[in-house]
Amino acid sequence: MDEESAEVAKQTEPVDAQDASVDPVKVPEQIINDLKPPLDFVPPKLKRKRKIVKRKLGVSSKTEKTLVRTTRKIQMKRKPALGPVDQIRLDAKYPLIPDFDVGSPLSIDTPDSCAASLVSTDSDFPDSVIGLSDDDSSYDDAEQGNEDSQSSISGYTSMSSVSVTQSRDNLSSSLSEENGQIRQIKPGEEDTRPRRAVVRVSRFSNLPPFIYFPPAEERGADLPQDLAKNMKWKLSTITPLVVREALKSTGFRLIKSKSESKDWMGMWGKHMKSIEFSSLKATQKINHFPGTFQIGRKDRLWRNIRKLEVKFGVNEFGFLPQTYVLPYDLKSLRKAWKKTSSDVPWIIKPPASARGQGIKVIHRWDQLSSARPLVVQEYKNNPYLISGTKFDIRMYVLITSFDPLKIYLYEDGLVRFASMKYSSEMTSLGDNFIHLTNYSINKHCDQYIHNEDAGACKGSKWTLKSLWNYLRNEGADVDELLMRIRDLVIKTVVSGEGVVNRLCNENLKSTYQCYELLGFDILLDTELRPWLLEVNISPSLHSSSSLDVTVKGPLIREVFNLARFHFPSKFNEEKQKEMSKILGIEQEIGSFCMDGRLYSRVLSMGEKEKIEDILLSAESGLRQEWLGSILEDLKPCDIRQLVHYEDEQTQLVNFRKIFPTPESHRYLKYMEYPRYFNLLLDAWENKYSTNRRQGIGLDFAIPLQGTLTVDACLF
Ligand code: ADP
Repeated sequence: MDEESAEVAKQTEPVDAQDASVDPVKVPEQIINDLKPPLDFVPPKLKRKRKIVKRKLGVSSKTEKTLVRTTRKIQMKRKPALGPVDQIRLDAKYPLIPDFDVGSPLSIDTPDSCAASLVSTDSDFPDSVIGLSDDDSSYDDAEQGNEDSQSSISGYTSMSSVSVTQSRDNLSSSLSEENGQIRQIKPGEEDTRPRRAVVRVSRFSNLPPFIYFPPAEERGADLPQDLAKNMKWKLSTITPLVVREALKSTGFRLIKSKSESKDWMGMWGKHMKSIEFSSLKATQKINHFPGTFQIGRKDRLWRNIRKLEVKFGVNEFGFLPQTYVLPYDLKSLRKAWKKTSSDVPWIIKPPASARGQGIKVIHRWDQLSSARPLVVQEYKNNPYLISGTKFDIRMYVLITSFDPLKIYLYEDGLVRFASMKYSSEMTSLGDNFIHLTNYSINKHCDQYIHNEDAGACKGSKWTLKSLWNYLRNEGADVDELLMRIRDLVIKTVVSGEGVVNRLCNENLKSTYQCYELLGFDILLDTELRPWLLEVNISPSLHSSSSLDVTVKGPLIREVFNLARFHFPSKFNEEKQKEMSKILGIEQEIGSFCMDGRLYSRVLSMGEKEKIEDILLSAESGLRQEWLGSILEDLKPCDIRQLVHYEDEQTQLVNFRKIFPTPESHRYLKYMEYPRYFNLLLDAWENKYSTNRRQGIGLDFAIPLQGTLTVDACLF
């Protein structure tokens, strides 16, 4: 293991691998039980916004009233399943470390008779809500249309029911990956992959279990019929095949993008308008946060990074090539242009597009068009070359929360080469096969060389791991480079966190609803200095080769496992017990289904007071101020965050946590203002990063035996 991986591994070491010496955290004796919001609590501000959205979608107030009445009726019927908040006293020694393999899926088989259909015919969620994006950010998954047409790589089915539904507009076609190979299972052919229960218990007792997404070599065991019926995933027009495959082998029913069903649990789609997030249910999870276009659009990205560069200096934030956004920056561009000679190249890009569309490298003023908004950027004409060819790298970054900020960086990724040898001659600038590295462009060049071997340094596409090996063999300091890349990623995300958090506060009902996978495109110069080219908020998961599948297949499963999906809350207590039993859960789990209160955004008076006190003391900027006090007298909202945080850590395979870490507090100063939960995790990392077991287990459990109940954590 290299030094860098060893360092990260240390930060994320599984609990069980660590020492368990005791240094107790003081936890509350008194349980804050006041100010419990009702399960369907909606802040008034959100109510107003929802009304506007509904009006926009054409939901009349009469329909709305009927909907509300029906919902209430259903809720009243359902309530006994969960129990009113103050009746839930499951007597948790909370949180506890279970005795068995925590955080890992249960390895049991469920009866074959439980098979369920995969495609729902339910209807009722307007596509206008789902598919819209005002943000026009960088979606390189628009390649999806491309992907769908690749019949040669589609057509796998695991459960017999799929073949029945397959004819229905191809919803059921998907990929099977075996050692990076795409395999087609013909109708009637037996799928021999081992089956595994798609349930994973939390590392804490009394918490509901999570849905487990098995690796491609395995498939999920069938779910009890009642449960399978409710495992609905809403397709969007861009749901990639690798995503569909991961969902189907987990037992999800894929419902059509045009379906009007409101009952779905998850969706993988384009970014929506911020206000449209407010019409999502607290229990629905989607792959975006409101406002991430702040880093996903080239013009906004520049504005945000530039703001911090002005404040903190070019040494800290000078990793984005100098950019001008026209027409606003026309004057300053003209000034800069005059200072340079005529043989200095610039690159022009539409502010919100992807896949190299509309991009040109230019060197004359008259090549600029003032007709449309444009991003004009300093062209980096000293790229690091391999075999004389330019390349850029695609890194995958997962954000599971913006408050507290939690960022994970995937260890593998893609290296995309231009198809022709590099030249700095002015006459070559018009040749996109030399200067652009997008696959969508270079695949049209007859010199493009396909590479199917994930471990090989050959052809026009490599895996990132191959690049690191290559560079190490060349004597490059890859650890230093990775450190710079981590720094660049964190700073970029931080540059947009202010707006994202504001929009989350305005539009989200729970902390469960969002996660986001970002694609960072990075260019290395001759000094191996990383330059950020752009951030894609819908990175392409299109798989045109087995090399792509090798990287993206495991990636998406890990994303889902880290995003942590619960089973839908549709069943009464008895049914839940029955399901737990069928799925082989022996641990005390509280409810089997999603319990929205674990993700409540509402704070009690006591919690608010603590937060205010801590933030006040943090104003001094002295870290010792919060390190010392924040872990004393933990409130339910603290425990909720810590539980989610620690549960997430059990799911890391190829992702590495880069924020928070014991050292990441140095990034706090770049944020708009200190956020309480960032300080909480900073203190937590500071104290327990090298001994997580101590943090999550003994300290919580022992002093709380018999005193802290599940609802204490809930509210
Ligand atoms: P898109 O979103 O359309 O892919 P990018 O900003 O990623 O746009 O640019 C496309 C390609 O152009 C990159 O993959 C890279 O090869 C090249 N490129 C972009 N910006 C620069 C730059 N400032 N200097 C050198 N090459 C660049």
